[in-house]
Amino acid sequence: MNLNGNGKCKICRSPFRDQIDKMIVEGQPYSQIIAAFPQLNLNKANISNHKKHLNPAVLQEAREKYHAHLEELAEDVVDEIEALDAVITKAFRIFQTFDGETKPRVVEVWTNTLLRAIKLKKEIFSGDEPVKRFLDDLFLNSNLDEEVESYE
Ligand SMILES: [Zn+2]
Repeated sequence: MNLNGNGKCKICRSPFRDQIDKMIVEGQPYSQIIAAFPQLNLNKANISNHKKHLNPAVLQEAREKYHAHLEELAEDVVDEIEALDAVITKAFRIFQTFDGETKPRVVEVWTNTLLRAIKLKKEIFSGDEPVKRFLDDLFLNSNLDEEVESYE
């Protein structure tokens, strides 16, 4: 154990090294780590210094978790953008099909939908996440689709 440890480091010599390594890579504040191991009587310098001795296996695990998380996020965003693109395409098709004077309600609803879809697409790229709520709303309101289909 403690292959790359440092004999002078309180944390490396302690039996809590792996636990502390995990807390460090999870980004927990120093104050919380200090409070979790009162028996070690740590200070911030001890932890800061120990960062050079982190167990490579713990670091590797954290790196893999982080990449898996990024990939999940990327997949979600791709799904959301495809759904929004479908909405935007449909809205444009409706504008080409319907005349605002004869079907003002349909055009108004889809104008609002289009503007919201475009706004949400921008928000996805800036990292916000109200998109799922919007899509849920849309599916709950699928009677609007029926209203539109009946005119097609
Ligand atoms: Zn150490």
